Amino acid sequence: MEFYSSQISNLIEQLSRLPGIGAKSAQRLAFHILNMSEQQVAGLASAMTNAKKNVRYCKECCTYTDDELCPICANMRRNHKQIMVVENPRDLAAYEKTGKYEGVYHVLHGAISPMAGIGPEDIRLSELMVRLSGDVDEVIVATNKNLEGDTTATYISKLVKPIGIKVSRIASGVPAGGDLEYIDEITLYRALEGRTYM
Ligand code: ZN
Repeated sequence: MEFYSSQISNLIEQLSRLPGIGAKSAQRLAFHILNMSEQQVAGLASAMTNAKKNVRYCKECCTYTDDELCPICANMRRNHKQIMVVENPRDLAAYEKTGKYEGVYHVLHGAISPMAGIGPEDIRLSELMVRLSGDVDEVIVATNKNLEGDTTATYISKLVKPIGIKVSRIASGVPAGGDLEYIDEITLYRALEGRTYM
């Protein structure tokens, strides 16, 4: 990219490191940013810096939030005895969009993957176990329907069942290998309704 000045090349390179952004998209975004007003660019830059600085993990469910507790954990009308375990905050958002789930969540920030060297201690499982010492009726495992998600589900089931808490797994309405965030709301709702006990 020698035909661009070093500042433009640097901007393109930084943007191309983002997931799903190839070289072409990075160039398009870079020139879009150069066409924005200084005020708009400052707004974009400070949104990124502030989010990175201020967003933290909810002390209950480990999702991202600005406060000590996320809005779902802080909501006393939610059923705090039902915990749905998801891999990431995007999956949480996907289930929230169905508008039908009244329980709370637990975000693992990943899944167990021996192939990738990700073990149980690398995801937020110990935080889940701490929560289960409280008043909990059911753990719904809604990890993705792939090898890592299934391995994680089996692992959780083995940990939780001996405590005497019900463990269920979302139904296979979710296509195998499917990322939850790309599945439509009705399918997700059916997968939740059709969950089976492990
Ligand atoms: Zn929370």
